[in-house]
Amino acid sequence: MSFSITERLANGTVLGAEGYVFELERRGYIKAGPFVPEVVLDFPDAVRELHREFLRAGAEVMVALTYYAHREKLRDVGREADLEAMNRQAVRIAREVAREGDALVAGNVCNTWAYDPDDPATRQTVRAMYTEQLGWAVEEGIDFVISETNDYLGEALIALEVTRGLGLPAMVTLAPTQPDRTRDGYEYAEACRILAAEGAQVVGLNCDRGPQTMVPLIAGIREAVDCAVAVQPVPYRTEPAAPTMETLRSPGGERAFPIALDPFVCTRFEMAQFALQARELGVNYVGICCGAGPHHVRAMAEALGREVPASRYSPSMDLHPMFRADVSAKDAAFLSSWNA
Ligand SMILES: [Zn+2]
Repeated sequence: MSFSITERLANGTVLGAEGYVFELERRGYIKAGPFVPEVVLDFPDAVRELHREFLRAGAEVMVALTYYAHREKLRDVGREADLEAMNRQAVRIAREVAREGDALVAGNVCNTWAYDPDDPATRQTVRAMYTEQLGWAVEEGIDFVISETNDYLGEALIALEVTRGLGLPAMVTLAPTQPDRTRDGYEYAEACRILAAEGAQVVGLNCDRGPQTMVPLIAGIREAVDCAVAVQPVPYRTEPAAPTMETLRSPGGERAFPIALDPFVCTRFEMAQFALQARELGVNYVGICCGAGPHHVRAMAEALGREVPASRYSPSMDLHPMFRADVSAKDAAFLSSWNA
């Protein structure tokens, strides 16, 4: 029998994995810029494979790839007619792979770029987009909903209301792109407190910041709420001078976001360290966002004390010809040139 998200969170840390759009872009299946997950209909095997890689690496939740699969975005790329098929198929694929292990399926909605706190009419536009996306997701079979990368508390509350209307547990996370508050002016901890008070089972932060600049925001959120807290940073080396992946610059001064971030990628060891740190700070849902690879997820799972399917191939550097104890004279000659 599979445990629900609330049961799992009550029993210990839940490990999540996201970043599907970035990784499938890197693999040549999604166009950078619009970042619409057309891959769901065009190359479903590519989506299936990435779900499977995250599952084998220890992810306990398969997040349906419906990020940016909403009406506004599909209109931008001329595929509005595919909206329903794309949303339904994304959930079906996530379900299919979740059943290969013991993972849950999350429906997924995100910031719409249509919300304007000063224009009440946009509330209805956003609500309609969430209602149709999540309606299809529920029909295909999801266990809970992740509403993520929210810039506005107001928009996040609409997603929460729609999710609660469907009778599903809600995880709602904010995109910490600003120094300390949402774009509609709520400190992150206060926004999380309001989301929890309005019935979210899990609240927190995801995307934009790497571990180094995400971690300092955790304590305030943990203190503000009694419910579960989720934190899913990007695996990039953000720092106080460039606190988000959008503000990272190459040595020549060019913006690295979103397709030249490679030199800033965290190692698996850094992400493993983050997983431990997050658990220590009381985070219940520890994850990773844009830029994630299965090697990061496996290292995080193992840091949390788990053995996962992909652990079968975890590093054994003692078996590497150059690093083993009984290195031959010939190999030792190679090693000295490596160390030069
Ligand atoms: Zn992300």
